[in-house]
Amino acid sequence: MLLEQERILVAEYGRRLIESGLTVGTGGNLSVYDRASGRVAISPSGLEYERTQPEDVVVVDTDGAIVEGVRRPSSELAMHLAVYAQRPDVGAVVHTHSVFATTLACLECSLPAVHYLIGFAGREVKCAPYATFGTRELAESASRTIGDAQAVLLAHHGLLACGADLPAAFNVAEQVEYCAEIYWRARAIGTPAVIPEGEMDRVIEKFADYGRC
Ligand SMILES: [Zn+2]
Repeated sequence: MLLEQERILVAEYGRRLIESGLTVGTGGNLSVYDRASGRVAISPSGLEYERTQPEDVVVVDTDGAIVEGVRRPSSELAMHLAVYAQRPDVGAVVHTHSVFATTLACLECSLPAVHYLIGFAGREVKCAPYATFGTRELAESASRTIGDAQAVLLAHHGLLACGADLPAAFNVAEQVEYCAEIYWRARAIGTPAVIPEGEMDRVIEKFADYGRC
């Protein structure tokens, strides 16, 4: 089986998306990019994560053509490929409709650095302009807005998180959801203060040095 380890990971982390509450039903999708072979393992379209086995994960090339697999790839394949094409540092993408990140996205609101853990995603998480799900326009909007950050909100839709590998991308999705909830709570009772950029640079540097804190 092509990209066997990557397909096992996609199936495993799909279940974790449900267990962690980052998504419900068949919402969201995830992929791993093996740059050496130019192949991407991506979750299948419309199959419950609990039922997804490694062989259900679809392998495509960088143009999106199916190389191996009997199912259809996720409808957001173009968005995953656009991020891989633009960012040589990215090896995995996790897309969710997690509640608090999506709440901000429905306000077309970026997530500022009100908690240091946002440093896993960057200095802030910008919100990409709305485009219809599953379209090239959405892929362009997300990849244009993410810049060099590890996450971007998708207006009226959800969140895209990325990382060097799938555990890293999943961690970014979890941390952004946590920070979005904290921001929501802080805004409910006051005006949250934003951590200065210089301090966020320091946090990001420390994360790079020590990994998870
Ligand atoms: Zn979506």
